[in-house]
Amino acid sequence: MEIKKNLTTSPKAKPTDESKLGFGHIFTDHMLIMPYDEGQGWHDPEIVPYDNISLSPAAMCLHYGQTVFEGMKAYRRADNKIQLFRPEENFKRLNKSNERLVIPELPVDLAMQCLRELLEVDKDWVPSLDGTSLYIRPFIIAVDPFLGVRPGSQYLFIIVLSPSGAYYASGLDPVNIYVEDKYVRAVRGGMGFAKTGGNYAASLHSQDDAHKLNYSQVLWLDGVEQKYIEEVGAMNIFFVIDDEVVTPTLEVGSILGGITRKSAIELCRSWGMKVSERRISIQEVADAYDQGRLKEVFGTGTAAVISPVGHLKWGDKVMEINDNKIGAVSQRIYDTLTGIQWGKIEDTFGWTVEL
Ligand SMILES: *Cc1c(COP(=O)(O)O)cnc(C)c1O
Repeated sequence: MEIKKNLTTSPKAKPTDESKLGFGHIFTDHMLIMPYDEGQGWHDPEIVPYDNISLSPAAMCLHYGQTVFEGMKAYRRADNKIQLFRPEENFKRLNKSNERLVIPELPVDLAMQCLRELLEVDKDWVPSLDGTSLYIRPFIIAVDPFLGVRPGSQYLFIIVLSPSGAYYASGLDPVNIYVEDKYVRAVRGGMGFAKTGGNYAASLHSQDDAHKLNYSQVLWLDGVEQKYIEEVGAMNIFFVIDDEVVTPTLEVGSILGGITRKSAIELCRSWGMKVSERRISIQEVADAYDQGRLKEVFGTGTAAVISPVGHLKWGDKVMEINDNKIGAVSQRIYDTLTGIQWGKIEDTFGWTVEL
């Protein structure tokens, strides 16, 4: 499909201090926008200057949450080339989310073409300071001006780009995590496996409660018995118990299948480690901790890659993990994944895609 380009005549000044990019508040000069209309399919993709979009106040996405999104990054290598990390996986996952929310399929090849051409236009916005990247946010919203509840017949696929800072300014600081035992994020048969706005809306109250107790994130338990561990809401979670690397199974359907999760599992297996995707209860974790068998806990996600967990609070019990320091397995996965992502070490898995 041909992508029309209507480029800006007044480019913005790029951030001068790449150590102060932060996350998610600076946007590049352009965005990609492609409508879908029933009977016509996806059509007329266009790269336009980054700007506000105009929607009817009755647009369906604003009322009933028929939205999906993705999150990935473009990395600048030392040789100045730009690369992506498993981007097709993101667009395959977008289609899983689409299917759950009755949003029409977006062919992966078309999505990739849209992304490549947008990045080509705004590639000078990919920062180069160590640890920085260009965050990519593709999303789809239902835009029919209609207040009835039904799947939309008109959608917009949009990609915006945001230069973002190094997640860890000074080493991998462990995070403190609070186990939520009142609210739940998702249930079997719900939308937990989809990257859709409602899941995040459901998480805000707990996040607020955790922050009040000086915990930065929430660990969710299953929505039926509140016994089995699910994930951290923007990260998947891993435990190292003795020599076993354990992460909750995706089979129940209430956990988002992270691409960092998948990559960490594949790496550990390639190193000959025992990795189990299975149900794991918070009680099992607490018991392993009491027996001195809980070696490491870490989260995985595109933003931080690996987030070591320093403290885990479950009710009145506060577990300090590995003396509040990053463990050997977490460090090895972090070094390897970030090495591959920024092109510092050879990618023997074929995960990277050059622009
Ligand atoms: C995006 C996300 C993750 C992490 O997925 P990655 O593909 O590794 O970035 C985990 N959990 C939830 C709920 C998410 O939205």
